Amino acid sequence: MALSHSLSLPTRTTTTYITPKTQFHFLFKSKFLVPKKPRTLSFSLHAMGASSSSSSQKPDNLQEAGRVDYASLSDGEWKKRLTEEQFYITRQKGTERAFTGEYWNTKTPGTYHCICCDTPLFESSTKFDSGTGWPSYYQPVGNNVKSKLDLSIIFMPRQEVLCAVCDAHLGHIFDDGPPPTGKRYCINSAALKLKPK
Ligand SMILES: [Zn+2]
Repeated sequence: MALSHSLSLPTRTTTTYITPKTQFHFLFKSKFLVPKKPRTLSFSLHAMGASSSSSSQKPDNLQEAGRVDYASLSDGEWKKRLTEEQFYITRQKGTERAFTGEYWNTKTPGTYHCICCDTPLFESSTKFDSGTGWPSYYQPVGNNVKSKLDLSIIFMPRQEVLCAVCDAHLGHIFDDGPPPTGKRYCINSAALKLKPK
């Protein structure tokens, strides 16, 4: 113990050169490299499926959902799938006005899914009243959301929350949430669809 402690001292001195900015940059890069792999994979699968056009069997909704390459959908295709408000929030990183969304005050038990790709994102059991006027959760479902540094407001770096499957903009994460995570996922209602239990 004593040996390792003395060895760790010079290391600590060098780590002071890592600025918070560098750490953010690292987080940003590492979180961004991960989801690119499955996206490429789903694209090649999609291309393979498209080339075998002789198949007369129409896939049902579930199969189709598994094959959609959300990363390659154009704005025009998203506009066909979404309302104007849903498109503005999820694909153009918009923010709905506080206390106006469908779910800011909802207490119905159920699961909140992504409005774009139907991935389950938040359970009602993790929803809490944040007083902000936006639906707020302290924890997402599994790894179904991802985060990314958002510098769109100067002097106010924030962590953007996105759907891990289709990259829909959902909202932002803050560190002032309740236990057990201490996180507050501040989400736009328009990005969600509640499926009651
Ligand atoms: Zn999605």
